[in-house]
Amino acid sequence: MTEKSEIPGQARVVIIGGGIVGCSTAYHLGKMGCNDVVVIEKNKLTSGSTFHAAGLVGQLRTNANITQLLCYSVELYRSLEQETGLATGWKMNGGLRLACNQARWIEVKRQASTARSFGLDMHLLTPKEALDLWPIMEISDLVGAAFLPTDGQVNPSDITQSLASGARKSGVSICEDTEVSGFDFDGDTIRAVQTSRGPIRCDSVVICAGQWSHHLGRLAGVNIPLVSVQHQYLVTEKMPSVATDLPTLRDPDRLTYFKEDVGGLVMGGYEPNPLPWAQDGIPQGFNFSLLDNDWEHFEPLLEQAIARVPSLAEVGIRQMFNGPESFTPDGNFILGEAPERNQVFVGAGFNAFGIAAGGGAGMALAEWVLKGAPPFDLWPLDIRRFGQPHRDIEWVRKRTLEAYSRHYTMAWPYEENTSCRPCRRSPLYDSLKSQGACFGEKLGWERPNWFASSPQAAVDEYGFGRQNWFDAVAGEHRAVRERVAVFDQSSFAKYRVYGADAARALSWICANNIDTTIGAIVYTQMLNARGGIECDLTVTRIGENEFYLVTGTGFAAHDFDWIKRNLASDCDVRIEDVSAAWGVLSLMGPRAREVLQSLIREDISNTAFAFASMQEIAIGGATIRALRVSYVGELGWELHIPVDCVATVYQALMAAGATHGIVNAGYRAIESLRLEKGYRAWGVDIGPDYSPLEAGLGWAIDLKSAKSFIGREAILAQKQKPLVKSLACFTLADQDVILLGRETLYRDGERVGWLSSAGWGYTANTNIGFGYVRHAGGVDNDYLQSGNYELEVASSRLPCELQLEPVYDPKMLKLKC
Ligand SMILES: Cc1cc2nc3c(=O)[nH]c(=O)nc-3n(C[C@H](O)[C@H](O)[C@H](O)COP(=O)(O)OP(=O)(O)OC[C@H]3O[C@@H](n4cnc5c(N)ncnc54)[C@H](O)[C@@H]3O)c2cc1C
Repeated sequence: MTEKSEIPGQARVVIIGGGIVGCSTAYHLGKMGCNDVVVIEKNKLTSGSTFHAAGLVGQLRTNANITQLLCYSVELYRSLEQETGLATGWKMNGGLRLACNQARWIEVKRQASTARSFGLDMHLLTPKEALDLWPIMEISDLVGAAFLPTDGQVNPSDITQSLASGARKSGVSICEDTEVSGFDFDGDTIRAVQTSRGPIRCDSVVICAGQWSHHLGRLAGVNIPLVSVQHQYLVTEKMPSVATDLPTLRDPDRLTYFKEDVGGLVMGGYEPNPLPWAQDGIPQGFNFSLLDNDWEHFEPLLEQAIARVPSLAEVGIRQMFNGPESFTPDGNFILGEAPERNQVFVGAGFNAFGIAAGGGAGMALAEWVLKGAPPFDLWPLDIRRFGQPHRDIEWVRKRTLEAYSRHYTMAWPYEENTSCRPCRRSPLYDSLKSQGACFGEKLGWERPNWFASSPQAAVDEYGFGRQNWFDAVAGEHRAVRERVAVFDQSSFAKYRVYGADAARALSWICANNIDTTIGAIVYTQMLNARGGIECDLTVTRIGENEFYLVTGTGFAAHDFDWIKRNLASDCDVRIEDVSAAWGVLSLMGPRAREVLQSLIREDISNTAFAFASMQEIAIGGATIRALRVSYVGELGWELHIPVDCVATVYQALMAAGATHGIVNAGYRAIESLRLEKGYRAWGVDIGPDYSPLEAGLGWAIDLKSAKSFIGREAILAQKQKPLVKSLACFTLADQDVILLGRETLYRDGERVGWLSSAGWGYTANTNIGFGYVRHAGGVDNDYLQSGNYELEVASSRLPCELQLEPVYDPKMLKLKC
């Protein structure tokens, strides 16, 4: 469609960008029965990053649902040519991944277990077996390899044209040579897209503009944190030894990848010193364009590639590509409705796997646009995972370059980013640092992970065995169980919800009863209409018409957005993010009361200051909200302190606690403590795909009263039937075994799930993991108890024990309180 008169003046959905992601989204909208859709492309289809992609289609990622999206792409690509009649170049020739040292071999074996957890049959191979699949490689340094037979490759332009053809057949319009220049809003809701050929009124817009998306986002008032990075690969002349069914090959220790291409090889890689591009904006007219080749930059990769495939040194190079592509700070792409606006969706930042992800991403986006929610939980991709630092594009660029440089390096357990730090700091940062804090980072926040005692350096030493912080964390853990410790949790996200109808509005969003007395703290989930857990937080009633909500650091934008969007429009209620105003010191352990009591006159005995209640107290001139809650299974208080007084209160607590053996403790101890006590973590153990009933959190839903809330009907319906999955706890006492999460769970020899989170419990002296046991016929306690369980850890199966109660005895807790 090129005629000016043919631009529709109105559409239900406008998609910006005619790359694979825009075309796939259009294809799926059409398939879902929505054909009132216009794709706007400023040049021609595929003219962005898509035309120069290498075309590898891998499937396995560290998250089950992202893997599911990529598997969906494969399913689609297998059948698309038959459906549309347009060739796609799809070949299911499998994917091979090499390991050249023992650590990488452990990583690969763990990946193979993860693959099995997610339903993919990945085989481990000896070097000789790998050679049989890839006869032109040198294997003298090989320890082993993994092979995923269902991986493959496509021709990126062809598959995109095929998707576009499918979309057109469903009635979707595609307008090439048309540029989007702006957006019109009614309040925060999209009304029209301005183009070089006139406006198009619309109900929703989807920004699928690749590396141009950040700029378009700015025009729309939406932050899309991605930057352009150069990515190079070469294509050789024909090589007689290259078979057409040669699998794709990833050689992470040599930072390179290969694929067969017209009888020759494509060879590319991920340099440790990536080159950003277009830092001042993408030049006008950069379509079907490549950058100048940078041989000097590529040469180290080529040397590595020749060491793996010696015949590469003998063959001519047909073409070298230097194509820019959009990358993101965490290496994952960006999907979903932007929190700043209504009906502005994003599908961008594909980190050089947009061809592999395109099919699934388009399907998910289409459903998100039409139904207001993705088909399943896509939190690791959700645009709401970003926060304050991601608004600074230079911060984004630096962090993105770090992520790019680590694409093929070892993904160590507990590995932290190093760039752009420190960014957000609690007032105690310097003090804790001088006391040996080793910090981790979340959403830009520096948070103590553990504390080193001299002479140990406060630095993580990574490895697949027990890491160097293990003993230090053991000490912190024991201090919490036996004495008292202070955690700096100032990074918590905190909101103030207030207004004459605040209680009514929150009651509708919260599954538990939050309409209680002033000072009560309610632990609650917020559910979606399917009964899945969207948020998991505490709600404290501060006044008749005012509530104080506390949630996890990483969920700041997500939870705020969920609550804001679901506040009923007929309610007098507002939400305000007050995170920056309050620091949090958590005083936890059996002696917490003695420490706190020594600083204040008010009676804080169990009767005077009960669990799940808040009182205002004053220490050192600071008025503090003391919340008696605990995520570690011990007596304790979260002390919410005006930021300017955090240091004063900290000093008072440490001085008062000295005789009780008070210590600083960090997030790694929290993880161990909460695993023992059976507390769930949102984003891993619980989330939109899991209901409170499945997660063992039915006690936190208010079904006794007639209160209506989002998800109630779904929960009531779920109660009528057996649960098809249920969260359970498993222990494995061998200290030489390291559980990290994603290990495959077997019941009576059958694969039933994987561990959602796991770690070491220092009091129970065992590995602890949570995982959903899945069974279509129903999972109840009898079913759980009648099975024998094994965990597959780095491709070895090991027996484990089912635990239906928290492994840290709750009776001990009662005694201590
Ligand atoms: C060298 C290289 C090799 C790669 N190899 C692989 C691989 O092997 N496997 C893999 O899965 N991925 C690979 N990729 C990544 C893949 O190419 C991208 O992830 C994918 O093409 C992104 O598709 P897209 O639709 O998001 O963006 P694009 O293809 O860039 O499409 C965005 C479109 O938006 C249009 N647009 C922008 N602004 C406007 C506007 N204002 N108005 C209208 N239209 C606009 C652009 O013209 C463009 O056509 C590779 C990338 C590179 C650079």
